[in-house]
Amino acid sequence: MPAGSRPLLRTASIKKSGAAAKPAVTRPAGFATALIRWQKSTGRHDLPWQQQPDPYRVWLSEIMLQQTQVATVIPYYRRFLARFPDLTSLAAAPAEEVMALWSGLGYYARARNLQRAAQLIVAHHGGHFPQRLTDIEALPGIGRSTASAIAVFAFGARAAILDGNVKRVLARAFGIEGFPGQKAVETRLWTLAESLLPSRDLAAYTQGLMDLGATLCTRAQPRCNVCPVTTACVALREDRVAALPAPRAKRAVPQRTVKMLVLRQRGRVLLEQRPPHGIWGGLLSLPELPQGKLPHRYAAAVPLPVVRHAFTHFRLDITPLLCDLNAGETAPEGVWLSLKQLDTAPLPAPVRKILNDVHAGLALSSNFAAASPLARPNSSAARAKNGVR
Ligand code: SF4
Repeated sequence: MPAGSRPLLRTASIKKSGAAAKPAVTRPAGFATALIRWQKSTGRHDLPWQQQPDPYRVWLSEIMLQQTQVATVIPYYRRFLARFPDLTSLAAAPAEEVMALWSGLGYYARARNLQRAAQLIVAHHGGHFPQRLTDIEALPGIGRSTASAIAVFAFGARAAILDGNVKRVLARAFGIEGFPGQKAVETRLWTLAESLLPSRDLAAYTQGLMDLGATLCTRAQPRCNVCPVTTACVALREDRVAALPAPRAKRAVPQRTVKMLVLRQRGRVLLEQRPPHGIWGGLLSLPELPQGKLPHRYAAAVPLPVVRHAFTHFRLDITPLLCDLNAGETAPEGVWLSLKQLDTAPLPAPVRKILNDVHAGLALSSNFAAASPLARPNSSAARAKNGVR
C-alpha cells in the first residue's frame, strides 16, 4: 500500500511511544479536536484583526497575509486601517494612495485587486461584504482558500482552507506524497482538508491550522515535541518530517538586468509611473535606461552598486546610474519628487533602497565617492542633507 493511501491516523504506535498524555488522535475527527483544544489554550488570540473580526478587517488581513508573515503585515495593516477604516473609504480612495500604503509589502496586484473588489462590492452588493462562498470567491484577488478563511472568520461558515502552511501541515501529518503544487496532489489535499472539518468551533479549528503551520510545523526546524498532533503524525512516526512535503522539482531561475537612472535636479529626483499591470504595476519607479550605450545626455552618469531583487519567477539585478542636472538645464518630463515626498510615495522596495542608499551616501562606488559632494560632509550639497539633493 503506498504511504499516502494508508489509514489517515493510527494509534497502535502511539501507545508504544509513551506519548499517551497527548490528546489521542485516532481518526480525522480526532485531529480537529486536538487542534481546537490546542488553539484555544495555546494558539494566537491577540492578532490585531482578531480583536474585531468584521468582514472588512478579516478580508484585509487575509489578503495582506498571502505570502507574507504576520510580523511584517501588522504595521501595514494598522496604517491601512487608520487611513481606510471601512470598505467604502477604500473603494473611493485615489489608487495612488492605496498603492502608497501598500508600498514595501510586495505583490502589488493584491492592493489593486483589493480596491477593485471594494468597488465591486459597493456596486453589486450595496457596500456589504457578500456572505456566500461563491460570491466571495468571485471577487478579484480571492482564491478558494482565502474565500474560505473569510467565510469562516467573518460569517462562521463551515469551509476548508488550504494555504501553503496548511498544505505542509497536512502533507506531514497524513503522509501525503508529492509536491503540493501539482494538481493531483492539491486535489487530494483539498479532499483531505474537507474531510477533517469539525461540526463546530470552525474558527478555532481554522485558526489552529494556521497557528500550527506558522508557529510549530514550520518549514525548517518544526517543534514536534510540543505539537498537538504529534502522537499520530505520519511524518514524525516514519522519520520523514524533513522530506515532506516534497519540494518542487528544481529549475533554473532566470536572471534579468536593468539600468535605472537616478536623475536629480534642485533637490528633487525623477520618477516614472509604471503601467497599471505587470511588475510593480501602478507604482512609481526610477526611469529605466536601454542596455548598451547610454544616451549622450547621461554619458557621465555614475554607476552605483548593483541592487539585487528576487521575484517569484526571476531575479533582477538593478544598476543605478546617478546623474545630476544643473539648475538651469531642461529636465525631462516625469514625476519629480522631493526627499520629503519620497517618504510617502508608492515605491517598490528595491527602488526605495536605492534612493535611501543614495541619500545616506552608502551606495557610492569608489570612483564616485572621491568625486561626490556626498562624500564631502562640508560641501553645500552634503549640508543640504539630501541625497537627492
Ligand atoms: S508532529 Fe511535527 S511534523 Fe507532525 S504535524 Fe506536528 S509539527 Fe508537523
